Amino acid sequence: MPENILIAVAWPYANAEIHVGNITGSHLPGDIIARYHRLKGDNVLMVSGTDSHGTPVSLKADSLGKPVEEVYKQYHDGFLDLYRRLGIHYDLFTTTHTENHFKVSQDIFLALKHNGYLYTKTTSQWYSPSSRRFLPDRYVEGTCYICGYEGARSDQCDKCGNVLEPEKLLKPRSKVDGSTPELCDTEHYYLDLSKLEPAVVEFLRLRQGYMRETVIGESLGKIESEGLRPRPITRDLDWGVPVPVEGWDGKCLYVWFEAVIGYLSASIEWARLNGTPAAWKAWWFDPAAKAFYFIGKDNIFFHTSLWPAQLMGTGEQFMETFAEETGQRLTLPYDVPANQFMNLEGQKISGSRNWAVWGRDFLTRYDPDPLRYYLTINMPEMRDTDWDWAEFVARNNNELVATWGNLANRVLAFNYKNWDGHAPEPGDLRPADKELIAAIEAGFHSVGKELDAVHLRAALQEALRLAAVVNKYLDQTAPWLAIKTDKAGAARSVYTALRAIDSLKVLFAPFLPFTCEKLHSYLGYETPLFGEGYMETVRDALGEHVVLRYRPPKDGGAWRPGELQPGAALREPKLLFKKLEESVVEEERGRLGK
Ligand SMILES: [Zn+2]
Repeated sequence: MPENILIAVAWPYANAEIHVGNITGSHLPGDIIARYHRLKGDNVLMVSGTDSHGTPVSLKADSLGKPVEEVYKQYHDGFLDLYRRLGIHYDLFTTTHTENHFKVSQDIFLALKHNGYLYTKTTSQWYSPSSRRFLPDRYVEGTCYICGYEGARSDQCDKCGNVLEPEKLLKPRSKVDGSTPELCDTEHYYLDLSKLEPAVVEFLRLRQGYMRETVIGESLGKIESEGLRPRPITRDLDWGVPVPVEGWDGKCLYVWFEAVIGYLSASIEWARLNGTPAAWKAWWFDPAAKAFYFIGKDNIFFHTSLWPAQLMGTGEQFMETFAEETGQRLTLPYDVPANQFMNLEGQKISGSRNWAVWGRDFLTRYDPDPLRYYLTINMPEMRDTDWDWAEFVARNNNELVATWGNLANRVLAFNYKNWDGHAPEPGDLRPADKELIAAIEAGFHSVGKELDAVHLRAALQEALRLAAVVNKYLDQTAPWLAIKTDKAGAARSVYTALRAIDSLKVLFAPFLPFTCEKLHSYLGYETPLFGEGYMETVRDALGEHVVLRYRPPKDGGAWRPGELQPGAALREPKLLFKKLEESVVEEERGRLGK
């Protein structure tokens, strides 16, 4: 039975490009799991978008003297470009700056308000008379009232490490223009999370056992030590989703509250664009649907505690706005396989110091599959990992090329040359041939089991282990030598190896889609394994936005053993992967931090 699988991927914020740490943290694992489930025949919906609102992007636009819309769109376009080149196949990658997202976010707000989970409170906040806006805590600096450090942020002192009460900061100054801010009263809505704490704890306990220990342990630990405290969900800002209450002009929904709603709003937008407006419900109202959230560890709390609280607090009220059905509750996350961080050459990745490997820049010099390979085999699933250029080159050459690429290349090239572009007619297979084919076909279970559990490193290692088994078989049968004396024996070995490669191609496909697609074509197939991404411009009341969509293949690949027929016509194979020179290491290290 096909399952309904929602792949929800972290929304990149519109004030920085995407680097390898972001890719391995969320976008790539999301895509690999989506491709696997698509091959399995499940109903996959993979969504994300650009987190376009909030103060950082608004201030960035001010500093550049550009309209904020132009700034967010510039980053958004870069994200779309990267995903296309890296083969991240979103069913919909949109933005939070759409009429649809405004409406859905406001509906969730109103549902929570109706259900009694919101209240208002007046507090003092730093206001900048010169820029005529309230400043978020991180944009106000001054002297720490505990230790006297002069470079403290209003909410935290990096010298003594204390969390500060912003309004007590001494000698405050605006980080934007150095002017002196004033304390002013302002009223905001708060989500009363304390009322939802028991439900969130129960939600988490139900996921103990299969959710990563790093994720569930941190989430329950935080609630046990601090409790779920009310959080403000509105801000004094004009760039964002307006608060849907009369008299609240000039205030917006806080981005932490509004951006996570994007998973739901993007699903609804996808359904509309698809011409099937109710189709999103298959993922959001089916209690058996599995919603996976791919995020980095800095986002765990928002996805394991706050987002479930928002969904549970909304209850059945959200559907009231559709006036269609009642009694339906939105699907809670099934799993949040959050990754730890990837460092770079032993140091934390830092965009501002250019201590980063940027996705789009990387792809100007290298192919996408070697990047996908290294970021998967080195994925920070349970602990932080390190991008090391020497290791990248070594793993490319010694694993990807030596174990898998060379295997495919030499068998296909040898076959193409000696059997006139056709798969050999093997006659009766020997026990060793049948054993090899069975061993590789068992990979659909062993690799699939790891992918079902979102263990991507283990899954890729298992596929690689199987490729090594085929290499061993070829060492033993040595068709390159046998062909001189026993062409029939060589035909059996080559056909057997081709059958194994035909299956391995599917096992590797979620990880290495570009080269597996080529291999699929060299093996003579007429239809592709996967569909393709494409862009589309959508117009609405807010203007227009460009989205990335996915067109599924008509008769695509399937998660099952290849059935390459004896005598099948093949295509002339080309090299799938390149060996990298050792000099790459010093060249690339020389680019860092400049
Ligand atoms: Zn201090």
